[in-house]
Amino acid sequence: MRGIIFLATMTFLVFQIAAFPEEERPKSASTISEIEHLHGLYKVAGHGGEVGSVYCVLTPDPVLIDCGSRVGWDQLIGNLKLLGFSPGDVRWVIATHGHWDHMDAMALFQKEFPSVKFAIHAGDAQFVVNDDRVFSCAEPLYNGVESAPVKVDRILLDNDTVNVGNTVFRIVHTPGHTPGSISIVTKIAAKKIAFCGDSVDGYYALINRSNTIDWQNSLKKLLALNLDWLYRGHSQCPEDSKDEIRSILETCLEATTFKRKKQESDEVYRGLEDEMRKGT
Ligand SMILES: [Zn+2]
Repeated sequence: MRGIIFLATMTFLVFQIAAFPEEERPKSASTISEIEHLHGLYKVAGHGGEVGSVYCVLTPDPVLIDCGSRVGWDQLIGNLKLLGFSPGDVRWVIATHGHWDHMDAMALFQKEFPSVKFAIHAGDAQFVVNDDRVFSCAEPLYNGVESAPVKVDRILLDNDTVNVGNTVFRIVHTPGHTPGSISIVTKIAAKKIAFCGDSVDGYYALINRSNTIDWQNSLKKLLALNLDWLYRGHSQCPEDSKDEIRSILETCLEATTFKRKKQESDEVYRGLEDEMRKGT
């Protein structure tokens, strides 16, 4: 139960988002130290549920892990400039999955900076190409926000690598949250790091093509990676100890067992937190 409560309170993505007025949009940082996690690794955008965390790895050219939604566009561009780059310098955006809050801004990149390339797993690619607004959560979860189709430059599969400079990004397919959810594993400053998007704690519903059995298997896969740091798609900072990472993954495994029992009567966009509150 402790684990379930932790999961519900700390990690589940239950959003109440009606609009994104200009003045409430996230702002870029004033100094690099505000966004630096390790030398060469920066959090360049992210804001609650509406802008998934965006990480910039310098290879030395910037590679982005996710690019967030258009709500975080000014924050993202401002932080890239702070690092001394133009948005057009970005070599790749590698999407952890195809949800609006993690990759919608790619439509703006492709319009304004078309040299920036986009990679996503095969399991989610068709949905972003077709701008499937139910799958992406743009329609009901985000109350009909603007979105657009996105061109895919590279389709990723399990165990592929994206090599930029001396940096290798290994793709680990971790479906469950979506069919094409991935964790992107790399080494920075001798640490084995995974950017997992919402693969760990982002279950939604069958209508989004989530799958609890896949989720369970993906968590076991992540446990076996023996990571030093784990970045989740909406957290403020990484889990940076092996014990903490194991604890979070095992807690989520407990939740999958609970959620599997509910899968038959799946309710659209209802988070685990709501279900626990109701005692179902
Ligand atoms: Zn998601």
